[in-house]
Amino acid sequence: MLAVQGGAPVRTRPWAPEFISSEEFDDLEKEYVLRVLDKKRVFRFYEEDIYHSESSRLEALYCRRTGCKHALAVNSGTSALVSALIGAGIGPGDEVIIPAYTYIATASAVLIARAVPVIVEVDDTLTMDPKAFELAVNEHTKAVIPVHMKGVPCQMEEILDIAQRHNLIVIEDVAQANGGSYRGKPLGSFGHAGCFSFQQYKVVTSGEGGMVTTNDDNIYTRASIYHDSALSYWGTKMFENVPSFPGENYRMSELNAALGLAQSQKIDSIVSKLHQIKKAIVNGIKTIPNIQLQRIPDCDGDVSYSLIFYLTTAEQAKSFSDYLNAEGIPNGTIYNNGIADRHIYVNWDYVLEKRGASLHDNPWTCESYKGNVQYSKDMCPNTLDLLARSISIPLHQNLTLEDCQDAIAAINKVAEFFE
Ligand SMILES: *Cc1c(COP(=O)(O)O)cnc(C)c1O
Repeated sequence: MLAVQGGAPVRTRPWAPEFISSEEFDDLEKEYVLRVLDKKRVFRFYEEDIYHSESSRLEALYCRRTGCKHALAVNSGTSALVSALIGAGIGPGDEVIIPAYTYIATASAVLIARAVPVIVEVDDTLTMDPKAFELAVNEHTKAVIPVHMKGVPCQMEEILDIAQRHNLIVIEDVAQANGGSYRGKPLGSFGHAGCFSFQQYKVVTSGEGGMVTTNDDNIYTRASIYHDSALSYWGTKMFENVPSFPGENYRMSELNAALGLAQSQKIDSIVSKLHQIKKAIVNGIKTIPNIQLQRIPDCDGDVSYSLIFYLTTAEQAKSFSDYLNAEGIPNGTIYNNGIADRHIYVNWDYVLEKRGASLHDNPWTCESYKGNVQYSKDMCPNTLDLLARSISIPLHQNLTLEDCQDAIAAINKVAEFFE
């Protein structure tokens, strides 16, 4: 009997902790952070020592990890996206295509660059639908941001092919997929730039922080200029061919860099544990009729911290989710009448209402913009349908084989009820 009917639940012990990143904090993080305090140096561009900072070490690690020529540490994933967009020359008048399912910061970054986001459907991978992407391209389109949502790599072959044919800039949003890959190549190395986040909800954290990776000298230089209003004064030598322009202050602090460095050395071990866990559960549920697993463009490259499957209807998904929670496996549908999830475009109010920071600072009414993008809450019905029919179970590197068996047993038990 199901737990919701008064039967014994499959498990009563708590499921995994919420955070992947901070659960790994140990002596290594302490050592690196304390080293910064001992040195009494929290500013990366300090005197002649600028190339021996924790921030440069972190950048070097991301160059090695992605195989990219350049990496620029910044203070958030959002500032990584803004720096990359402005670095690539995106600005007023340009349209940038983004998926309907991503954190609101992807849309916000486009607007901060004073460009206009164009929202397109995701498919059953819950990442950008390449067909929807191509249909949205017009003479104003300048760039596309594929987002590797919940650790799942986008269909990069199709997306890169379309982008090349239309001569578009590709900026990967890797905020949720640090450590992922596609066909053996690290995420963040496919586009003109890759943007990482080290916020606490991500795979690894630096407290707050981000990284831009790129092989393009011009994008790197311009992103660097944008990330610091006085960059050329710090003794950095590599910007001579590119004229300076006003920047913000998106610099990373040495404390954040030290934490990010310790954490980032653990990515591969975290991801390999997650792979085993997800594989074990998928093997135990993949033949269940009436549930359909999320399509993963490359299972070997999936960071694997989230297990998603679809029911036939939203009503079924709602019941399935309730029953599974009662069996002791925490999960949720993604689009429901609960909290306004800011990862779904319907909840991006300032985008749908075309609201800028002030009356005359508005990318949609700016005179450089000749396009006519329209938004509405029902503009991406496939995305809403998929998210409403999905059951999402958070995975964690500390789950044991026994935990996996419980998940398999509970999903099988509940699914029998839906045959
Ligand atoms: C978290 C996130 C961001 C923004 O990163 P912050 O470090 O919070 O600024 C951007 N895009 C996606 C997909 C994210 O999940």
